[in-house]
Parts: sequence; C-alpha cells; structure tokens
Amino acid sequence: MPVIAIDGPSGAGKSSVSKGIALRGGWGYLDTGALYRGSTWLALQAGVSAPEEVANLVVKSNLNFNLSASDPKLIANYPLEQESKTDISEIIREELITNAVSAFSAMPEVRRELLLLQRNFIEKSNAQFGGAVVEGRDIGTTVWPDAELKIYLTADVEARATRRQAQLSELSDVSASSVADSLAKRDAIDSMRAASPLRQSEDQIVLDATYLNLEETIQALWNLIEERKING
Ligand code: C5P
Repeated sequence: MPVIAIDGPSGAGKSSVSKGIALRGGWGYLDTGALYRGSTWLALQAGVSAPEEVANLVVKSNLNFNLSASDPKLIANYPLEQESKTDISEIIREELITNAVSAFSAMPEVRRELLLLQRNFIEKSNAQFGGAVVEGRDIGTTVWPDAELKIYLTADVEARATRRQAQLSELSDVSASSVADSLAKRDAIDSMRAASPLRQSEDQIVLDATYLNLEETIQALWNLIEERKING
C-alpha cells in the first residue's frame, strides 16, 4: 500500500502534482491543507478562536474529504444542530481563509484532532484504492513517517507567486509581488510554529520545480516512483 507524501511551501504546485500522480497510479488523494482550511472556515463561521473550542468544533463537524483526485470535495456537518452536510470545497479557497489559516493550523489542539483524521483518511484510501498520495506540510515528518516516498516539492518564491497569481483569477489584478509577500508570510508562520512545522527532513527527496512545468514535474516524480518500484 504505497503512501506518497508530498510536502513543501505554499504555491509550489503540490495540489496539481499530487492529483496528477494519484490519477496515474490509481491511488486516492488527500489534500490535508483542505482540512486546515475547513477548520478555519468552521472557526470563523462559529466565531470561536480558543484552541480547545476550535478543536471541539472540528471533531463535531465531522470533516469529510472524498479522496478523489478528479473531483476532490470537502464536506462538513455544519451548522451542527441541523446535522446538515455542507460542501465547503470552494469557499475554503477564499482569501479570507487563506489569510487566517496559518494562525489556526499553529494550534496544537487543532493539529491533534486533524492528525487522527488524516491517518484515518490514509487508511481508508489504502483500503479503497490500494494507496494514497497525500499533500501537506508535515506528512513525511509527522502524519505518515513510514511513507514509501517522501517528496519536498519547492520552487523559488517568484515562480510560486507567478503560478499562484495565474491560478487565482480573483487576484488577477493583484501584483505578483504582493502574492509573493503573502506566500512568504504564510511560509514563515508555517515554518516557525512550534507544532509540527514545515521543514525539510533528510529522508525527503527535494524536487525543485522552479524551471519545470506541471507535466515535467509529474514526470520527474513518476520516474522516482518507477525507479523505486512503488507502483507494483
Ligand atoms: O496547502 P494549503 O495552502 O491549502 O494549506 C493551507 C494551510 O494549512 C497552510 O498554510 C498551513 O498553515 C496548513 N497546513 C498545515 N499542515 C499541513 C497542511 C496544511 O499546517 N499538513
């Protein structure tokens, strides 16, 4: 059951690359950033900010990621009293969430709950699809240290900002330099937090995508998978 862990800073292309690899291998796909974004959305909706209250809300709302690389969806049972299933896949991409998420993901109480959830999703993906491609910041270091392949996907901040700007049509009138500032700020908080920070570890393979397009990046990673006979 291969688990492929893809960590790295914001805007390096982790989502597109992870989805591409999951589709190619026929594996499930888990976007752990979506779970942190979902937790942030819940906290803002409910107006809670005390770490234990946010963690409690996360548990109660039963965040569910569908493991699909072709049509990824995040569903939350929110509002809680109505036991409704709300599709929050789109809303968690809004700038308000992007700007707030690092503060919530720095809370050990929130990480504690999401760690359990992420491991459950990986087990489910292994059972259902025979493997998982998991993207995040601490997958290889904390969430699934036994992953068959651990990648640290990175690129120059300018290259990441240019790509992110192109992706976010609502930001198209924002300069690449201000996108770069916001990426750098998020990376700094994500790397400097005490709880499971973004960091490179010795057993990760660094893939620098500064001069690679999406297809080339997916191919470079697929070559590693084949070299190591991870795809069976
Ligand atoms: O990957 P994405 O940019 O959607 O992640 C949003 C945020 O979630 C990150 O900036 C980080 O604060 C947090 N995160 C994390 N650990 C992960 C995945 C994401 O702390 N494994």
